[in-house]
Amino acid sequence: MNSSKVIAIDGYASSGKSTLAKMLSRHYRIPFIDSGALYRGVTLFVLEKGFLKDNELDTKAFSSALNGLSLSIEPETGDLHLNGKNVSQKIRLPLVSDHVSIVASLSVVRDFLLHQQRQMANECGLVMDGRDIGTVVFPNADHKFFFTARAEVRAKRRYQELKSQGQDTTLEKVWNNLTHRDKIDSSRKVAPLRKADDAIEIDTSEVTTKQVFANLVEKIDAK
Ligand code: C5P
Repeated sequence: MNSSKVIAIDGYASSGKSTLAKMLSRHYRIPFIDSGALYRGVTLFVLEKGFLKDNELDTKAFSSALNGLSLSIEPETGDLHLNGKNVSQKIRLPLVSDHVSIVASLSVVRDFLLHQQRQMANECGLVMDGRDIGTVVFPNADHKFFFTARAEVRAKRRYQELKSQGQDTTLEKVWNNLTHRDKIDSSRKVAPLRKADDAIEIDTSEVTTKQVFANLVEKIDAK
């Protein structure tokens, strides 16, 4: 693969997108951007500033505060910095997971992040994962994949990941959060989660990470 390529990976929550995107980033030596982390960062900002009340965003207050919102991803570690502070752990907290899809459904938020995401694709290309990367952010991406997996497989994976990070949660809570987010993400008006017509669908339910990686590299290198 020529190294100045854009690889877009979209799909359902916890379908393995970020893990595979990280592996491709290392393999092809191109940066990896987890766009979900950016949406989580904006959600944390909105919650900390008190701009969200009863799931309604104070759009006016939020819009005028945007000048004071800076998000950046450390290329080496993938850590997210919000106004200079490392918030990588905070953005994974249940409070953020429970509100992120509501915040991400607002066009003022999506417009703000669309611009930032496009700026991140410099001359060395990148691999970005999210919900609308192949459809909206980079519709001309060189390679597009759409990840799916059965909900019970995704919930179990996410539950184990959160437990290993020391989070106090239950499989039921994780299941509810994932399915709720998928529903909001797929049905929103702006940039809904959907497979781009030219994306290759990858079902990760019954395969190992290694198998998915080999499959993606084969497809990328063959193009
Ligand atoms: O990728 P992750 O599951 O961390 O994303 C969190 C949420 O951010 C998603 O459920 C979705 O609401 C939002 N998101 C989005 N568009 C993206 C990436 C994430 O709407 N490109």
